[in-house]
Amino acid sequence: EKPKTGKGPKPGSDKDKRITPKSTDFSRWYLDVVRDAEMADYGPVRGTMVIRPYGYALWESVQGYLDKRFKELGVQNAYFPQLIPYSFLQKEADHVEGFAPELALVTKGGGKELEEPLVVRPTSETIVNHMLSQWIQSYRDLPMLLNQWANVHRWELRTRPFIRTLEFLWQEGHTAHATAEEAQAMARRMVDVYAEFAINGAAMPVIAGRKSKIESFAGANITYTIEAMMGDRRALQAGTSHDLGDNFAKAFGTQFLNEAGDLVHPQQSSWGASTRLIGGIIMTHGDDAGLRLPPRLAPVQVMIVPILKKNTDTEAVLKAADDLAKAATSAGIRAKVDAGTEKTPGFKFSFWEMKGVPVRIEVGPRDVEQGTCVAARRDRPGKEGKQFGIPLDSQGFVGAVQQMLDEVQEGLLAEATAFRDANIVDVTSYDELKQAIEEGQWARGPWAGSDEDEKRVKEETTATLRCIPFDQPASVGSCFLTGGPAKEVAIFAKAY
Ligand code: AMP
Repeated sequence: EKPKTGKGPKPGSDKDKRITPKSTDFSRWYLDVVRDAEMADYGPVRGTMVIRPYGYALWESVQGYLDKRFKELGVQNAYFPQLIPYSFLQKEADHVEGFAPELALVTKGGGKELEEPLVVRPTSETIVNHMLSQWIQSYRDLPMLLNQWANVHRWELRTRPFIRTLEFLWQEGHTAHATAEEAQAMARRMVDVYAEFAINGAAMPVIAGRKSKIESFAGANITYTIEAMMGDRRALQAGTSHDLGDNFAKAFGTQFLNEAGDLVHPQQSSWGASTRLIGGIIMTHGDDAGLRLPPRLAPVQVMIVPILKKNTDTEAVLKAADDLAKAATSAGIRAKVDAGTEKTPGFKFSFWEMKGVPVRIEVGPRDVEQGTCVAARRDRPGKEGKQFGIPLDSQGFVGAVQQMLDEVQEGLLAEATAFRDANIVDVTSYDELKQAIEEGQWARGPWAGSDEDEKRVKEETTATLRCIPFDQPASVGSCFLTGGPAKEVAIFAKAY
């Protein structure tokens, strides 16, 4: 690619490499960003995706953050086989009914027809329980807290990179407990972990709550969720945690001797978050210049661009840039220098903007003379330190950068929170809900409807019940649809 020069190509011309503006076509914009920021590419099979190194680095940040939290709670990582006997899925009636349309089956192996088809795992409750029935004998074996980082396959019809793919990467936690209260508390705790990650890690102001029966996981008693608002105001289910009760334990004959000496079923939870989170981060924060990554997860937090000019001391500039990177790195900041001479500084600026790097540092010959440099924050226009400069000495520099990173993190969260709050409408009637949904907003209102009522709302408005938030108002009023007394408010929205 040639560096961008001068005035640039005419907007809309063939040479115009700029991405589709977000406001013109959000879907196109998203696909442009995924491509130009080198996050992912399409795989040869419809609905599959290649995660490129930059996208994978972001996933590794997500993994690092979550894995640490899981381990703090005593969860241990393990790995189960990807191929599962089909009969396992049939053991839990709701589970097989829910997953059947999305299953990929292996019917041949080594050139021979298999006696029993194998399922390429869509999730692992069945195979985990097959093993737990052998590992759990006594209350002393409980709680058993397992997690696996793995790929899963779900044969989805409508796909979109990161958001919904045939194969995706995720973590799935599987726990077994002595009591129903403990299992439910675990499921509840894990949705809190997801919410904490979303808000503090990804700067995604999610709403946590309970799913309706219709929207719950196939085989669960209760499903908890975090719901995020994307830049086009559609909802994204960004992580789910299930209270499974003893549904799978019963189906697989998993039993243990409790303290009283009775043979009983353990109570279980399972919980998962996937590479969909990457899509969520892109669609929450991105702008017309590309990605904007929350500093806590950004693979590169600071990109230092030396400004190399002819007939100046380029050696001194390059050394200053390297020294800054070293100082930042030893302070635990992920910093890099883009020292190449093939591309102009202007090209580098827009390239790293596209990639969403939170802070850019520019250092040129005059800066070196003055002992300062200039910075740009990805969350707002203009340059930082223009007036007084950012100090070049290690301590001053690291302090200034750390502060900017914290401010970008807060800035992104504040912006996304304001956007979300401006787009949730409290409704008291079906007409108000319809209007809010038509305008692309989320509608929150008192809800006491049946499954049939919920289906009707979906058919008539295409909005689904996203969640019954944990945060409930003091008084609720009557159901916006049926007029009957409601105990809770629910959120309805169009979703990905
Ligand atoms: P589930 O096991 O269905 O509760 O899924 C756990 C989480 O995985 C969901 O909350 C989604 O965030 C994510 N997820 C589900 N299906 C897909 C998919 N096809 N592609 C990417 N992520 C997915």
